[in-house]
Amino acid sequence: MSVETVAGPALASACDDVREAVDGDSVDGVPPGHVARPASTDETAGLLRTAAELDLAVVARGAGTKLTWGTPPERVDLVLDLSRMDAVLDHAAGDLVAVAQAGCPIDRLQETLAAAGQRLAIDGTLPGTTLGGGIATNSSGPRRMLNGTFRDLMIGTTVVRADGVIAKSGGRVVKNVAGYDLGKLMTGSFGTLGVVTEAVFRLHPLPTASQVLAVDVRDATTAAALVAAVVHSDVVPTAVEVDWPAGVVAVLLEGTEQGVDSRTAATRTLLTGAGASTVDIAEQLPPWWGHHPEGVLLKLTCSLSAVGGLLQEAARQGVAVRGSAGAGVLYGGLPADAEVAAAVTVLRAFCLAAGGSLVVLAAPADVRSTVDVWGPVPALELMRAVKGQFDPHRRLSPGRFVGGI
Ligand SMILES: Cc1cc2nc3c(=O)[nH]c(=O)nc-3n(C[C@H](O)[C@H](O)[C@H](O)COP(=O)(O)OP(=O)(O)OC[C@H]3O[C@@H](n4cnc5c(N)ncnc54)[C@H](O)[C@@H]3O)c2cc1C
Repeated sequence: MSVETVAGPALASACDDVREAVDGDSVDGVPPGHVARPASTDETAGLLRTAAELDLAVVARGAGTKLTWGTPPERVDLVLDLSRMDAVLDHAAGDLVAVAQAGCPIDRLQETLAAAGQRLAIDGTLPGTTLGGGIATNSSGPRRMLNGTFRDLMIGTTVVRADGVIAKSGGRVVKNVAGYDLGKLMTGSFGTLGVVTEAVFRLHPLPTASQVLAVDVRDATTAAALVAAVVHSDVVPTAVEVDWPAGVVAVLLEGTEQGVDSRTAATRTLLTGAGASTVDIAEQLPPWWGHHPEGVLLKLTCSLSAVGGLLQEAARQGVAVRGSAGAGVLYGGLPADAEVAAAVTVLRAFCLAAGGSLVVLAAPADVRSTVDVWGPVPALELMRAVKGQFDPHRRLSPGRFVGGI
């Protein structure tokens, strides 16, 4: 009897929400056989144990907005849909700590925390996207510059391994246990090492005031000088973003009313001193803030001192750039019918020479086949060894990650 035939009933014995997959369940063009929606970590473990017994390949899914990021999986038999595990399990406001299930939409967690004047210091993202998806892709926005990313804000994780073993790491206080920080390993691993079912986050108070200082600037050298003037100062910006070649540098200041007012004045002085002719000050974030550019999506990283050069080179390659000039983490976008492979080659060489990297996050399949999605990855053999420990039979999102991991 074929695996497909026995898989359904076997999976159904581990979870009461299992169905045959339909077209919409395909993962980056690869059709799975079944979809299961576990309601708990234990059910997730039961499903992964069953999948192991039947040698099924498994891909975790949150809201499914980024299942095309990375490379297509070699095979998918089971999609593990975490959307039933969408609860905020605990919010210890006194400890500035929250615990939530991986299928919890990021915006729902933020709503719960805001009621107590707190937040997970992660920028708003696409509505409905989940904590698990954000952790697995380590997506980040403008506020990463001051607060870090999921990797820094997650202090505890519950993960189910490919063999169904449940592993807990960290806890409810920062660095409360000795040993490897598994949470950091899971962050940005695209679901290739384990399925995250719960996460513990350290929180920040919601700021009572904020101001955005925006400068229109024509040349990349001045843009870089404006960024450097603010980043090297003590005005403690939450974010320093650039929108290029639209020609805007924007600085976000958050905190108390009085603090923000005095830092706004200091920042205006810094910006005019670095070449800004006018500085617009507003409370509202600009419409482009935190949104990725359109088209083929690139993630570009480089040293701060190379940001100006990167903006110039990107403009030469017809690549629109948005992102954290203050952290050296930027997103590039270009039309799919442009010279994508040539632009990737030139910009990747620039980023590598500037101590960074370039990843092709999203592109149509025909374009993706013309480029190396991940680029050169130092310590790839060590990563393969880590994968070999967590998922020796390569059944979690096989082939989606660097080096075909
Ligand atoms: C601050 C910020 C700003 C963003 N801005 C934009 C934007 O402007 N435009 C845009 O298009 N996107 C943006 N994103 C990206 C996008 O929102 C995220 O990548 C999103 O978090 C994906 O969530 P999802 O639930 O849809 O994940 P999915 O698409 O379901 O999954 C994404 C990946 O994570 C894996 N995965 C999902 N859940 C788990 C789990 N529980 N355990 C292990 N692996 C798992 C999947 O297998 C897949 O590889 C932004 C993200 C952030 C954090």
